[in-house]
Amino acid sequence: MIYCKECLEPNTRPGNSWESSDICTACEYYKSTKEIYWPDRYEILQDLVEKAKKNNKDSQYDCIVGVSGGKDSTRQALYIRDNLGLNPLLVCMSYPPSQVTDLGASNLSNLIRLGFDLEIIGPSPILWKKLIKESFFRFSNWAKATEMALFSAVPIIAINYDISLVIWGENPGLQIGDKGMIGKNGWDGNNMKSGNTLAGGDISWMEEMGISEKDLYFFRYPIEKEFEARDINIIYLGWFIGDWNFITNGRTSLSYGLSPRLGKATETGDASGVSSLDEDWVIFNQMIKYYKFGFGKTTEYVNEQIRNGSMTRDEAIKLVEKYDGKCADKYIDSFCKYINITREEFWNVVDQNVNKQLFTPTGKKGEYTPNFKVGHGLYG
Ligand SMILES: [Zn+2]
Repeated sequence: MIYCKECLEPNTRPGNSWESSDICTACEYYKSTKEIYWPDRYEILQDLVEKAKKNNKDSQYDCIVGVSGGKDSTRQALYIRDNLGLNPLLVCMSYPPSQVTDLGASNLSNLIRLGFDLEIIGPSPILWKKLIKESFFRFSNWAKATEMALFSAVPIIAINYDISLVIWGENPGLQIGDKGMIGKNGWDGNNMKSGNTLAGGDISWMEEMGISEKDLYFFRYPIEKEFEARDINIIYLGWFIGDWNFITNGRTSLSYGLSPRLGKATETGDASGVSSLDEDWVIFNQMIKYYKFGFGKTTEYVNEQIRNGSMTRDEAIKLVEKYDGKCADKYIDSFCKYINITREEFWNVVDQNVNKQLFTPTGKKGEYTPNFKVGHGLYG
């Protein structure tokens, strides 16, 4: 385990290789943004905006924007409408009632209150639960299937409505370091499905469960031909905006009515309080990620703070040591109840996936001691 010399990104993130360098892909990218003359990028964006207006002149909407109601999508929607003068149709693949939080529902309502048209897609909760359970046992990541739906539904709606521009927020290839996703240039999102999350759009494991192709409609990422037939272009807005980051997006959205999560960071593992507000199981998913790769949500949050100079690496280490991987039992219990398993069965799955090089089991179920020091690497 090697840490970036500047931030606290370890080299254990899947799809991210920067072994040959001392600093991580995201820090490298952040540095490169200092050399950018932003008006040049804005000009490219303006061209894309004009093209979208022209191509979609027969439609009520100029573009499709995937939203969750969280900090990034709220700022994105506002920017697209108020700065770029586009008329977006917001599309949300919503969690079923048994999963969505009041906070998530309230933040989506906030977007409607801000005057946007919002299309909400709610796939069958029965299928949803089946896929979540399978994802948890198969990948120790319940979100594997639902993320497919979150990312696929947006281009599906674009294709169905014949709207040729899809806008996402950050480019995960550049800003997180998921290199598989990198497209032709910094704003090109057309290679999205090659990233770690969508894994090439492979849903064969869902079909193996005996679920029909028809039922998986919203889980299947459209194929190249479908995009080409409608001349659909996917872009990342974040590449064009100098202060597109966790902190500014959070602040902007809070000032426009976003409600933050009020739980303690020792229970949620998230020191920011503004990430993944629409449901709570992400909290233990981040804990599992921590046991697999040695970092969690707080690492991602402090890394941004370090890069923009609002936190030192040493201050960040203290926060990460305190909060990364933390998760209150109530979140695990509510999930166990949802998929009808015991806490024991839950920890059996986690235990099989704990990286035993990074952690040593204490002997007590669900407790592991890290073999590494944050910011330094493995002991010994
Ligand atoms: Zn870094």
